[in-house]
Amino acid sequence: MNTKEKDKKYIMGTYGRLDLELDHGTGCTLFDADGKEYIDFGSGIAVNTFGACDPIWVDAVTKQLGMLQHTSNYYYTKPCADLAELLCKKTGMSKVFFSNSGAEANECAIKAARKYGTDKNPDKNIIITLKNSFHGRTITTLSATGQEVFHKNFTPFTEGFVYVEANNCDELEKAMTERVCGIMFEIIQGEGGVLPLTEEFIKTADKLAKKFDALLITDEVQTGNGRCGTLYAYQQFGIMPDIVSTAKGLAGGLPLGATMFAENVQDILPAGSHGSTFGGNPVAAAGALSILSRIDDALLDSVRKNSEYLISKLLEINGVKSVSGMGYMLGIETDKDAKEILKKCLENGLLVLTAKDKVRLLPPLNITKDELDKGLTILKNVIESL
Ligand SMILES: *Cc1c(COP(=O)(O)O)cnc(C)c1O
Repeated sequence: MNTKEKDKKYIMGTYGRLDLELDHGTGCTLFDADGKEYIDFGSGIAVNTFGACDPIWVDAVTKQLGMLQHTSNYYYTKPCADLAELLCKKTGMSKVFFSNSGAEANECAIKAARKYGTDKNPDKNIIITLKNSFHGRTITTLSATGQEVFHKNFTPFTEGFVYVEANNCDELEKAMTERVCGIMFEIIQGEGGVLPLTEEFIKTADKLAKKFDALLITDEVQTGNGRCGTLYAYQQFGIMPDIVSTAKGLAGGLPLGATMFAENVQDILPAGSHGSTFGGNPVAAAGALSILSRIDDALLDSVRKNSEYLISKLLEINGVKSVSGMGYMLGIETDKDAKEILKKCLENGLLVLTAKDKVRLLPPLNITKDELDKGLTILKNVIESL
């Protein structure tokens, strides 16, 4: 049996895999099992922040791997403490809880908001999220996810979530009561179709959260770690959330989630209230330290500049109607079928993603102009040929 046959026979069919077996790669170029080359505009869904097998990252990870791979959270380890310090210094947040995925990072944020509310009043437990959002696949983060399609088959769900239309300030204001303990949203809805929130909505949510003594939580699992041209996307809106969750690109390809807490909630989860066996694992933390310390102003500047270039080039393509998003998180609306574009790109050596009816681009942050141009040429030819 070859890999594809074995996978189909033995792995639960939860994923609609594409007909591609990836084998190895360097930077933004990946190779399949037959040696065919692909430009990577997807980063494994915003995970491989510096592309495949970035040598500095590989060094950092293998060095830690040769020292100690895991300790449990009974003990202190240096990579974990150093990473928490770096995250706090770069964001102004005060404390971090480490987990292994985006869903877990959000799960922690939700628990913290419930703790914050119910400490004041046992009924203060409602969390407002947005329609069309995506917060993860556990039962509670699915409850938080405001999309009916995800709510089939898995009832009963965790209670206490209220969904509000994105960018509808009136609806948000009407939903606010003293019972609300948190407002949680993605600055750009990723899985929902690369849909950015407006500055007005973000600032209104910030104000209303303060007014009703609720926590403002930004889910930066996808938008974070340099993806949108700042370290975290909220930094472009002059707000300071109480909680920021992140994962995906944080460790550059290793599983790591982080939930960051502002000073006012830095002691919200006391000893014994939450935990994770693997959370803050030293190998993942060493990888994240390597990634995070290199997401500097020069890199972020290049992401913002190249993004403008990318958007202008995309808008020149016949059949492209609009481009949404920020930095290297872009959604392309076309008059063609996004899935067809994805498949044709694959045949022609370019990996892209989709989000709802859009083609989604999430290239590695260090992609070169040359690689961007190569990918753009393939994308243009594909869209114009369909
Ligand atoms: C991917 C994603 C998640 C879930 O992350 P997992 O690591 O798959 O659990 C949560 N929120 C957002 C915004 C995401 O993009």
